[in-house]
Amino acid sequence: MKDVIVIGSGFAGLAAACYLAKEGKKVLVLEKNESVGGRASFFKAEGFAFDMGPSWYWMPDVFDKFFADFGKKTSDYYQLERLDPGYKVFYAKNDAFNVPASVEDLAALFEALEPGAAKQFEKFLKDAKYKYQRGINDLVNKPSLSLLEFANPLLLRDVFALDLFSSVEDLVSKYFKHPKIKKILEFPSYFLGATPNKIPALYSLMNYADLELGTWYPQGGMHEIIKAMHALALELGVEFRLNAEVKKIEIQDGEVKNILCENASFSSKALVAAADYHYVEQHLIEEKYRQYDEAYWDKQVLAPSSLIYYLGINKKLEGLEHHNLFFDKDFEAFGKDIYDHPKWPDEPLFYACVPSKTDASVAPENCENLFLLMPVAPNLDGGEELHEKYLQMMLDRISDFTSNKITKEDILFKRAFAHQDFKDRYHAYKGNAYGLANTLMQTAVFKPKMMNKNIKNLVYAGQLTVPGPGVPPSLISGKLAAELALKHFKTYFHD
Ligand SMILES: Cc1cc2nc3c(=O)[nH]c(=O)nc-3n(C[C@H](O)[C@H](O)[C@H](O)COP(=O)(O)OP(=O)(O)OC[C@H]3O[C@@H](n4cnc5c(N)ncnc54)[C@H](O)[C@@H]3O)c2cc1C
Repeated sequence: MKDVIVIGSGFAGLAAACYLAKEGKKVLVLEKNESVGGRASFFKAEGFAFDMGPSWYWMPDVFDKFFADFGKKTSDYYQLERLDPGYKVFYAKNDAFNVPASVEDLAALFEALEPGAAKQFEKFLKDAKYKYQRGINDLVNKPSLSLLEFANPLLLRDVFALDLFSSVEDLVSKYFKHPKIKKILEFPSYFLGATPNKIPALYSLMNYADLELGTWYPQGGMHEIIKAMHALALELGVEFRLNAEVKKIEIQDGEVKNILCENASFSSKALVAAADYHYVEQHLIEEKYRQYDEAYWDKQVLAPSSLIYYLGINKKLEGLEHHNLFFDKDFEAFGKDIYDHPKWPDEPLFYACVPSKTDASVAPENCENLFLLMPVAPNLDGGEELHEKYLQMMLDRISDFTSNKITKEDILFKRAFAHQDFKDRYHAYKGNAYGLANTLMQTAVFKPKMMNKNIKNLVYAGQLTVPGPGVPPSLISGKLAAELALKHFKTYFHD
């Protein structure tokens, strides 16, 4: 009998396992896939090493804090490099903008676009920094089980300063007029799964994360973070079973009794469900114990899914940086294709990551590791032919804007990943990539709750619950789940 079983070994599951093991709990992690990491999986092919999911290392303080909680440093596990430029934005042919690491340099570039913008940027960032600090300390680190958690006088006083009721788009427009500046400052909203007019202006805190805390890269790739957390969990005595897909959670009298995999059954005193929340509820738990029904889930605004291509290219690509955003098409029309009338987009925006620009270990000599990601509405049908059409579109735009002609013969390795792959590999609801959009009505107390009111010894974690999508939030979610388990399941641990 384990103290706690954790379903899923993404950032949330790994973090929960580490915090619980630190408190002396016997923890077993059950993971359906062949490796740990969840959406931050990794694979090697033809001499290339591909991160399958996240590629932006933002909010380094969250990772530092995580390892510090265990008396460790990130540098005990991986080496970080700050990228400069942080990223490149393509607005049109012969019109691109490198976002420098230095805030002063960026302010000067903004000033050149719009007189007075440097001063405005200083004010904008000051406000974003305040929100970041309050957000991390007072909002994100709360399980959001009840509004009372937020009833502290400072927070109530600040409810307007934190800009919960206006949008990122409105906020940015208050400070700046130039469309190029606006696109840079609105871009982090897309990380939060919705268009800037739907994301509360509180999340300008992401601009502070982006532009002041910076964009970093762990040498070896994002999967180094997973390797580090996995190593830490093993050090703490956590056990792992891979290729162990949970098929059923048996509940008796409102308590988790057995967790059934294909050929094995496990029992534990408590359960952390860190696989996709919707899947756990709708597929693993008997209906009467579910917290939400299918109609509830269908009403939630999901963050986009993605069409991804992992490409091994047989030559160096000039004119691209490590991170490249192709923002040369109409944001509004693209947003409509994702959220308002979901369909495959006519003119997609996309993102190209070339980690081999920073890290020689991820591609053979004189080759380039190219990761292309096109956000697309969840739950659409695709198919190889359609995917290939979009691949060609993206390669043509890269060719056009950078004078790199990438022909079929240049592609040494190619793998596509889209909706059905998200469903098959991660049990992702509607093939979502990043969980629920962080709209106001899906923030904090309005997210699917971490505790299940019908099951006494189960807590949920991961990007579909609090605090939300992204690597740092998922990691924080695992920590919150461990804290809730330690607080609410005490009687089980004493048995
Ligand atoms: C393509 C892509 C790009 C992204 N880019 C970024 C980025 O640059 N920066 C950033 O911060 N965030 C990014 N994100 C978001 C971030 O990666 C996720 O929010 C985060 O990794 C989610 O972690 P999680 O632990 O909640 O879920 P997951 O990583 O999905 O972990 C859940 C685990 O549960 C397992 N599981 C499911 N069902 C079962 C079952 N029945 N039995 C056992 N195990 C099961 C799954 O296999 C999986 O391993 C990106 C995500 C994607 C998909």
